Amino acid sequence: MRINQQEFAPWLLTVLEQLTQQAQYKNNPIILAGHDDKGLLQVAIQFLANSLCEQSNLSPACGHCEACHLFKSNNHPDVYYLWPQKELHEYELHGVPKGIKKYSESILIDEVRQCQDFFYTASSRLQKRYVLIYPFDALNTSSANALLKTLEEPPDHLCILLIGQALDHLPATVISRCQIVSAAIPSFLEQITWLRQQGAAEPEQLLSLALLNAYDALQLQHSSALLNLRRKWVQWLISEDPDDRLLASVDELGISVLYQLAMRVCYDFQLLIEGMLPTQFLSWIDDMQWVKRLPRDRVNTLFSVLQQENRFAHHPLNVKLSLDFITENWHLIKQ
Ligand SMILES: [Zn+2]
Repeated sequence: MRINQQEFAPWLLTVLEQLTQQAQYKNNPIILAGHDDKGLLQVAIQFLANSLCEQSNLSPACGHCEACHLFKSNNHPDVYYLWPQKELHEYELHGVPKGIKKYSESILIDEVRQCQDFFYTASSRLQKRYVLIYPFDALNTSSANALLKTLEEPPDHLCILLIGQALDHLPATVISRCQIVSAAIPSFLEQITWLRQQGAAEPEQLLSLALLNAYDALQLQHSSALLNLRRKWVQWLISEDPDDRLLASVDELGISVLYQLAMRVCYDFQLLIEGMLPTQFLSWIDDMQWVKRLPRDRVNTLFSVLQQENRFAHHPLNVKLSLDFITENWHLIKQ
């Protein structure tokens, strides 16, 4: 995947307008927060493109001037990507040390220290320099603390953007120093329509498997191995008599995705038992009819258990153990 300015969903236009206005109004760092952080990243990219372009003044970037070319090739000297190695690698950006087996998923304190020079050196081309922190959920306590001074009194030439999902993953000391632009979640229909325009074959199922996150869905569509693993996991969860061969390799999805998908399937079970239509995996409704016979309290208990355990899903637990835990509890509802 590369940083580019296409694939811009219509519901993000208001976020872009808001960001552009806020950035003009004040010099405080800006937090862009919302469910679909990949979509918000696209907003930030478009904002940067517009701001850096030397032909247009905050209107859409021309795409042809030298600044636009530098930005598109990830070589603009006034842009700094303060991202974890994992994301730098995924987006094919510079700055990932060679020969690493497992890329770090956190923004490390040393990485924050390394960009101090960038913060305090004036731009070579324009008046502004831009720092993109993505995802801000990847800041740990020490790296967030290392940023505090710059966030509190950023130099006039510096615009800092923090993009991510959960504001409660950020220390209050960081939030209090920033302006916040938060994005509303688009409707299912809006997302489906847009995904179809982007060429998605089965947008409903794709969006469900991507946890109702349109930009994740777009990315999933291009990685069929991951998409199939998610599909296998959901198939295991929704079948009355599941084939355990479907569980082969699903631990590769990681704890968080395993839990998120299981919780959403369980939520659909609850709706079906109450005589309502599933909202998460509607395209699998025919395979879920057996659920209506299940005792309501068992399914409710399962949901609470999953919800409770999911709180620890960000901790470095053993994936295989988590998978066993979910499947064992899943069997309990049928006994
Ligand atoms: Zn331009």
